[in-house]
Amino acid sequence: MGIHGETTTVAEKRGQLGTVICARCGEVIDTLPTNGVKTMYGFCGQPECRARKDADEGDAR
Ligand SMILES: [Zn+2]
Repeated sequence: MGIHGETTTVAEKRGQLGTVICARCGEVIDTLPTNGVKTMYGFCGQPECRARKDADEGDAR
């Protein structure tokens, strides 16, 4: 009886990365080493995409 492999994801093999995505345009801003594969949202820095407190509530969840 052998050990029937554990399921290893590609992400685990390569090191776990979090992806930072612009909440506005969906552009990948950056990747960060994190504890687990995660997707985070930020703003890419374009004036159009910057977080504004002034009105503009895109999609309400
Ligand atoms: Zn953006």
